[in-house]
Amino acid sequence: MIKVENLYKQFGSNEVLKNISTTIKSGEVVSIIGPSGSGKSTLLRCLNLLEVPTKGKITINDQDITDKKTNIMKVRQQIGMVFQHFYLFPHMTVLENITYGPSKVKGETRQVAETKGRKLLAQVGLSEKEAAYPNNLSGGQKQRVAIARALAMEPQFMLFDEPTSALDPEMVKEVLNVMKDLAQTGITMVIVTHEMGFAKEVADRVIFLDEGVLLEEGSPEEFFNNPQTSRAQDFLEKVL
Ligand code: ADP
Ligand code: MG
Repeated sequence: MIKVENLYKQFGSNEVLKNISTTIKSGEVVSIIGPSGSGKSTLLRCLNLLEVPTKGKITINDQDITDKKTNIMKVRQQIGMVFQHFYLFPHMTVLENITYGPSKVKGETRQVAETKGRKLLAQVGLSEKEAAYPNNLSGGQKQRVAIARALAMEPQFMLFDEPTSALDPEMVKEVLNVMKDLAQTGITMVIVTHEMGFAKEVADRVIFLDEGVLLEEGSPEEFFNNPQTSRAQDFLEKVL
C-alpha cells in the first residue's frame, strides 16, 4: 500500500532522513521508534507530504505522491493524521469538529455526517460528549475526538505522531485502547510512539530509526527480544 524508496530529507545542511526504504502493506500496523531527533516525525510527515522529500520516491496504492504533478491536497484527504497536540477547533462542539471535514471537503450532507460522526464518537467511547467544547474535555478525551475526526474522513490509512506523549499518565491507556481497537478493524496504521508495551503488543512490525537511518525492521518479538545493532540495544536499555 505504501512504498518508500530511497527517501532523503534535508533541512538546510541537516540531513534528517538518509536513504529510507520500506513497504507497508494494507492492514498492517507499523510502529516507528527511535531516539528523539532521529527523524521519526519527519518520516511520518513525508508520508502525507507535510514535508516534501528531498530525494526518493513514495508510492501509495501505485500512485507516486512525490511526482510533481500529484495533487497534494487530494493525497492528504486519504490520509488521517493524529498529532501529539490535538489541534481541535476550539469554537466548535465535539460533533462539529468531527463533521466539519466530511461536510466541507467531501460534501456530505449534515445528516449523513452527523450519523457517521455519532457512530465514531461511540467507537471512541465519547457519545455523551457530542455537544461539549474541547476546552471542557480532558486530554485523553480530546485525543479520542481527534482520532474520531481523522476517521470521519474515511482515510485509507492513519498516521499517529506520539499521540499519547502530551497526556497525563492516567489518560494514556484510554487512548491506547482506542488505538488498539482501531488496529483490530484492519485499517493500516503507522504509529510513532514511545509506548514500548503498546508497540510490542499491537504492532505487526517495528521500524527503528537512528540519526535518520533505518537501522532495524522486524516483528516486535525480533526487535525487542533480539535487537541486532548496538544502537538499538542501547536505546532499549534506556526505555525498557
Ligand atoms: P523525532 O520525531 O525522531 O524526534 P524529527 O523528525 O522531529 O525527529 O527531527 C529530526 C531532525 O530534523 C531534528 O534534528 C530536527 O531538529 C530537524 N527538523 C525537524 N523538522 C524541521 C524543520 N521543519 N526545519 C528544520 N529542521 C527540522
Ligand atoms: Mg517527533
